[in-house]
Formats: sequence, structure tokens, C-alpha cells
Amino acid sequence: MSSEVTPFSKPLIVWLILNQRTEEALTLLATQYRVNVPRLKVGLPKRHRKKVLGCYQSKSETIAIFNSEIIGNPFVILHEFYHHLRTTMDKQHKGTEKNADKFAAEFLNEYNRAIKNLVR
Ligand SMILES: [Zn+2]
Repeated sequence: MSSEVTPFSKPLIVWLILNQRTEEALTLLATQYRVNVPRLKVGLPKRHRKKVLGCYQSKSETIAIFNSEIIGNPFVILHEFYHHLRTTMDKQHKGTEKNADKFAAEFLNEYNRAIKNLVR
């Protein structure tokens, strides 16, 4: 079996999400981190309704989002992907909110850095 890892670029992941190609972004992320591709569902569980933009349900490996606009929000998607990643490594811990924010922010920073080189 090949141990080759798919070329992976943080700006590309953000760009895909911004362009509503979130399923593709999640597939790329899952390949890179060698985890299952999480499901994506529009609509939050009752207890979260109106309080958050997204949440991660570990039992069903599902990222649930507030509405269809959030499909194109890289910060929310990447934050919830972090919980997916952490839960895969350790069933008991979905990681801290601070680390999930940090994970998402890193992708956005690299995206912004890449874009900066493309404007005059
Ligand atoms: Zn969170």
C-alpha cells in the first residue's frame, strides 16, 4: 500500500469552503488526517437551536450547522472538523474550544497570507 499523502494546502481548503465546495474540502481534510469523512447536516439538534452556528455530534460523526449559509463559512466548518479529528483520536475528548478556534484560525491565516500575494 502506498503511504503517499494527498497534496494538501490550507489556502485551498479555505477556498473550497468559501465556494460552497465543503464536501470536497472535508474529503481532502479526512484524507490528509487519515480519519473518516465527517457527515455534514444542515439543522442543529434542538438543544442548540439559535445558540450556536455549528456543533459536532461524535456518535454519528456529523457536523451539524445552523443553516445552509454556514456551508460556506470556513471558520465554523474547520472548528467543527477539529472536534471530529480529536474525537477520532480519543473517544472521550472532543478537544477544547480554544484549540478548535486555533485550528480554524491557522487555516484562515494561511489563506489570507496567500491572498495577500495576489493583490496589487
Ligand atoms: Zn466547538
